[in-house]
Amino acid sequence: MRYALSLRPQWDAAAGTVSALDVSIRTDRTVKTGEDLAARILSIVNIPFCPMEPASFTDRQGPIPVETHRGAPEMSFIYREFYRACRDTEGETCIRYRITPRVQPEGYRSSPYFDLVAEKGGILGSGTTFLLHPPALDSTADFSLSWNLSGLPEGSRGVWSLGAGDCRRETAVNDILFSAYMAGKVNAIEEGKAGFYWFAETPFPAEECAGEITRLFHHMSRLFHDKGGDYRVFTRRNHFPGGGGTALTRSYIYAYGEGDRVTIEELQALLAHEMVHNWPTMRDNPPGAGTWYVEGSAEYYSTLIPMEMGICSLERTAEIINEKAGSYYENPMRGLSNLELGKRYWTDRRCQRLPYARGILYLSNLDAAIRRATGGEKTLLDIELALLQLPDPTAEDFIRLGGEIAGFDLRPGYEAMCRGELPPPDPDAFGGKFTVTPCKVKLNNAQHRGDTELLDEEADGYRWEVKR
Ligand SMILES: [Zn+2]
Repeated sequence: MRYALSLRPQWDAAAGTVSALDVSIRTDRTVKTGEDLAARILSIVNIPFCPMEPASFTDRQGPIPVETHRGAPEMSFIYREFYRACRDTEGETCIRYRITPRVQPEGYRSSPYFDLVAEKGGILGSGTTFLLHPPALDSTADFSLSWNLSGLPEGSRGVWSLGAGDCRRETAVNDILFSAYMAGKVNAIEEGKAGFYWFAETPFPAEECAGEITRLFHHMSRLFHDKGGDYRVFTRRNHFPGGGGTALTRSYIYAYGEGDRVTIEELQALLAHEMVHNWPTMRDNPPGAGTWYVEGSAEYYSTLIPMEMGICSLERTAEIINEKAGSYYENPMRGLSNLELGKRYWTDRRCQRLPYARGILYLSNLDAAIRRATGGEKTLLDIELALLQLPDPTAEDFIRLGGEIAGFDLRPGYEAMCRGELPPPDPDAFGGKFTVTPCKVKLNNAQHRGDTELLDEEADGYRWEVKR
C-alpha cells in the first residue's frame, strides 16, 4: 500500500512561526462502499487531534462522499474516528486538509509530547495528532514524505524521526504516527544517522550537548549491534514550567520549561537512558514481568557506557549510582514483588520508580557474577544481545539463554529478585571501580523522583564511592 504524505507549512511572519499545515495524502488503497477509507486519532491520553478544517477525499471519479463513525477505545487511551466511504473508490485516493498547531489550554502543563505545537521558529510534534491514516495500525505502508517549504523563510527545514528532508521507506502505520515531525527554522547537529534538533535559544549549550549525544548514540548502536537505523533527538520549549521527554520511534522529544535551568550532565543522563530503550526489550505481560529488565537495562547501560567512554567522570558516576541504585533502599515499597509493583505502577509513583532501581541493582550484580564465572569472557551484554535476536523475548528466555551464557543457573537469583529480595551490591559491579559501604538511610516517601519527603524510619542501605 502506498501512503504518500506531503506537508506544506504556512508561515506567520509576525509570530515568527508556522501557523498552519496543509496535509495531502495519496494512497492506492481502494475500498468498497461502507468500508473505512481512513482514520484519525480524536484523542490520545487526553491530547486532542489538532484543530482541523474538514478533509476532502477524491479519486479519479471525483469527490468521495464519506460518513464518520467512532471506534471503540484502543489500549484504553486511544479514541479514533473513521471515515467510511459511501461509494467504491477507484484507483488512487487523495486526501487533503489543513490543520493548525494545537494551542494548549490555559494552565496546561502536561506530557507526553504527542501534540503538534508551535514555538518561535516552527512546529514540532508527533503524527498521532495531525495525520489521517489507513485504519489498520499494524499494517505496513510504502511511505513517502515530501516537504513543500516554499512558504517558509529561507533556510527552513522539515525533519522526521526516520529521515531528514524528503524520504521514502517501508514503514508501519504505527511508526508513521508515533514519530516526530519538525518544520521551520530548525537548528541541527547531524552525524551519520544521528541528529539533534532545536529551534531558538536553549537553556543548555545545544551544540556541545548535540555532539555528545550523537557520539553516545554511535557507541551504543555498535554495542547493541544496531541494524543501522536513524536516531534523532528533538528539542521543544514548553509554554509552561517544567520539562521531560517522550520516547517515539527511533527518536525522542525532549522538552524544557520556560525559565528552566538544565545542566548538560542532567540532559546527558536523561538522553542516555532514553537512547538505550532503542534496544533491550522484554514482554511485560502481566505488567511488571518485564519492567525491571527494560528500565533496569536502560539505567544500567546509561550509567556504565558514559563512564567507559570517559564522557562521565568516576566521581559523577558514583553520584549517579547512588541516585539510581542507592535510592532503592530508601523506597518504602521495596518489599513488594515485581507483579505487585506492576499493579500499582500507574497509581503510585514510588512503585513506578522501584523497578528501575531494582533492575539496575540486579543486572549490575549479575554482570559482575558472569564476568567472574567466565573469567571475563562473557558479560550481561551477551545475554542482552541474545535476547535481541528473539522477536518477543520473555523472562523465561532470559533465564534460559542467560544460563547458557553465564554457565550457572539464573533462576534462584531471578526469582528472589522478583519477590523483592536482593543480595548486597557486588563490589565487582560497575567495572569494580567503586567501594560499597553499608549505611543507614532514611525512608523517602516522595512520589516524584528528585523530591524528598523523609519518614522517621531508617533502613539498611549502601553508598558507592570511587575506589582510591
Ligand atoms: Zn526508561
